Amino acid sequence: MEKIRMSTPLVEMDGDEMTRVIWHMIKEKLLLPYIDLKTEYYDLSLKHRDETNDQVTMDSAYAAQRLGVAVKCATITPNGQRVTEYNLKQMWKSPNGTIRAILDGTVFRAPVLVKGITSCVINWKKPIILARHAYGDIYRNVEYRVPGKGLAEICFTDEDGHETRLPIHQFKGPGVIRGMHNTDESILSFAHSCFRYALDCKQDLWFSTKDTISKTYDHHFKDIFSDLYENIYKADFEKAGITYFYTLIDDAVARVIRSEGGFIWALKNYDGDVMSDMLATAFSSLAMMTSVLVSPHGQYEYEAAHGTVTRHYYRYLKGEETSTNPVATIFAWTGALSKRGELDGIPELCKFSAALEAATVATIESGKMTKDLVPLFEGEAQSLSTEAFLDAIAQGLSARLD
Ligand code: NAP
Ligand code: MG
Repeated sequence: MEKIRMSTPLVEMDGDEMTRVIWHMIKEKLLLPYIDLKTEYYDLSLKHRDETNDQVTMDSAYAAQRLGVAVKCATITPNGQRVTEYNLKQMWKSPNGTIRAILDGTVFRAPVLVKGITSCVINWKKPIILARHAYGDIYRNVEYRVPGKGLAEICFTDEDGHETRLPIHQFKGPGVIRGMHNTDESILSFAHSCFRYALDCKQDLWFSTKDTISKTYDHHFKDIFSDLYENIYKADFEKAGITYFYTLIDDAVARVIRSEGGFIWALKNYDGDVMSDMLATAFSSLAMMTSVLVSPHGQYEYEAAHGTVTRHYYRYLKGEETSTNPVATIFAWTGALSKRGELDGIPELCKFSAALEAATVATIESGKMTKDLVPLFEGEAQSLSTEAFLDAIAQGLSARLD
């Protein structure tokens, strides 16, 4: 069989530990036999980030801007312990944070559903895609431990030196305060990404905040979404037969639980952080959660939602057999290849990606899976090593492509 040719390279961002091991197995067993894989390769392993003073991370993000589609392996975000373990020059920032800061945009997370692993929420029949705003709020806050009696205020000084002051609280004793912010620019790009993604995958878009309590901050998010919808996206939504729906977050949580899924749920940074773990666990596990960063300029970066699975890697280094789940990483590749196919007009790439996704799901449904899924599976389940599981998928894929 002739290999599928690509016209534009994918930006390949290699990573760390167990996921790096899996990364190369996926390429060798599932991709290279069928695709004349063209990638612009960036090694984002911690060692190489350190060697390049993290320049490689920035270069990879600029490459994603230039080429439009990237696929990223999980990477270590160093902490104190990693600085010692890898003898680092400094505690480099989170690569995902760096890439997000360059590309801007929104992270969309969706579970991979398989028959035999039912969600804890029995009425969920279709995936719920979560869109998390990835800038500001408590993740960029300034906090202060109030030592005792005193007045806490918000003070804004404009360019001309004018001060606007608002009292927060007259403390009668010790306590805590926090200041946080967001910008119109970032909220606008979040909203654009959500509306575009909804149109891309033809699904309803829900958005929820706590605007009843936060009458300026959260309400501003609500207003920006509503303005964009009314003035830019409404006609396209109506044409696509999808809806935009705003509701208070309390009401949204209740509706999400009662729904059958099949929509995109956009959330502010903290709400998205918490709810994505809830959704991943309720649907099955983090190892089955895919993730894509969509920039407001139409660039895409696909990855798995989980980390580098360190505990498994240390066992792998000792020569022990590991059973790490590669599904989210496979879907990062299929997402990226399929998007490349769509942008470059190469339907074979989209067909291949669909076949690989179907083969992956079918392998699990046939009872072959990694160890983490076994307790969740309703039928007879066989626990395989990562490599044996990938071999089983490769067999299914080859049968499908024949
Ligand atoms: P993790 O790598 O997601 O793993 C946490 C635990 O979840 C694992 O020990 C394992 O549980 C289970 N797990 C996660 N993914 C799995 C998979 N594919 N197959 C089977 N089990 C899986 O999170 P972490 O241990 O907190 O972080 C490890 C490193 O990853 C850190 O250095 C962190 O900075 C980095 N990280 C990177 C990203 C990213 O690049 N996007 C995201 C998060 C974390 P058991 O051990 O019980 O089997
Ligand atoms: Mg979290």
